[in-house]
Amino acid sequence: MFDVIVVGGGPGGSVAAKKCAQGGLRTLLLERKKLPRDKVCSGMVMGPWANDIIQQEFGSIPLEILVDPYQLSGHMMHVPGTQSQRIMCKTPLAWRKDLDFWMIQMAQEDGVEIWEGAKVIGVNQKAGACTITMMQGKTPQELKSRFVIGADGGASVVRKSLFPLLKVQYSVPLRECYDGALDLEKDFFHWFFPKCRSRPRFGLNHKGDCFLIEGSGIKELRNEINQILVKYGFNTKSKAIWKDGCLIPRLHEALITGSFSPAKGNILLIGDAAGLLFPITFEGIGTALKSGILAADSVARSVKEGSEAAGIYLQELKSILQAIRSLHSWNKKLEQEATKGVAALSKALKAAYGETLKVANRG
Ligand SMILES: Cc1cc2nc3c(=O)[nH]c(=O)nc-3n(C[C@H](O)[C@H](O)[C@H](O)COP(=O)(O)OP(=O)(O)OC[C@H]3O[C@@H](n4cnc5c(N)ncnc54)[C@H](O)[C@@H]3O)c2cc1C
Repeated sequence: MFDVIVVGGGPGGSVAAKKCAQGGLRTLLLERKKLPRDKVCSGMVMGPWANDIIQQEFGSIPLEILVDPYQLSGHMMHVPGTQSQRIMCKTPLAWRKDLDFWMIQMAQEDGVEIWEGAKVIGVNQKAGACTITMMQGKTPQELKSRFVIGADGGASVVRKSLFPLLKVQYSVPLRECYDGALDLEKDFFHWFFPKCRSRPRFGLNHKGDCFLIEGSGIKELRNEINQILVKYGFNTKSKAIWKDGCLIPRLHEALITGSFSPAKGNILLIGDAAGLLFPITFEGIGTALKSGILAADSVARSVKEGSEAAGIYLQELKSILQAIRSLHSWNKKLEQEATKGVAALSKALKAAYGETLKVANRG
């Protein structure tokens, strides 16, 4: 019997588990993959939620965890027929494999028990006790705990167990990694909007000796990507050295209207499992960390006060939901501005992406 079982070893899971263990709770973290594991992500530690929480809970990110150019100067937006726009914003850059492994190791040092290769297949709760069914190798096991924190990412099994009737639509972002560099500033993340609309878009950034093309639109935009990037030295015949992809749940509307509340009883969802990525940029390291802290605090209060953790957590989560609501409203504005022409769109994109960083600032 554990006090808390955290499912998933991303940033949200690590910080939540670390805080629970620090609070004296017997905490187990289950991670489906062998560690260190990678995650489809640009690896930008964006905005103060991410940077401040990492600094406060884990300390300064060591240089060897970051990847060249180590710190981006900001973002650059490219809309055809307009001058490229810059948003200046210092942003540490890492491979998630390294960043997440660094964090999970620190959680372990603080007393979190970690089982890797442990895939959760179901969760339920009855009379104040949670039961987790998981597979380690070929052996199914049942584990009991008082609380469960579901930090198992976009395709969360904990969410599906808790809300079997919730209908979720997913985006499917892809990532392609190529050897070499393009003639684009390496210390900027480049966003391209080839159709002169806010979507579909694709992103490009450099990491070490390679560059990555990313986004949910890259299949649909293949011709445009080639036409645009050839100007920066891209060999359209070159093959990616590797490719991968993942699922992002589109839960903003459901979160905003309240038709989906990411907690029940003593089971709390955090980060991507709860659909808490920011609209517009779809950054989610900061919201995973922030919701992880809120979940750990809610568990601590629940132990002290004897009330269910969900009620406390959903109350605490309002600050994140407010930020999501205000950013979500930019989607309509961007569509409207696009109808006025490329200059209006470019200006609105800069404002919307800039606002994403400011919203996190206010948090
Ligand atoms: C293309 C792309 C680029 C992005 N770029 C950025 C960026 O630059 N900056 C940013 O802030 N955000 C970015 N994001 C979003 C960011 O990657 C996520 O929001 C963030 O990783 C969420 O963290 P998390 O802890 O909630 O979940 P995750 O990091 O997804 O971790 C979930 C963990 O749970 C494990 N797991 C899953 N199922 C199970 C199971 N059944 N049993 C046990 N373990 C399980 C997984 O293996 C994984 O380790 C990007 C996303 C994409 C798709």
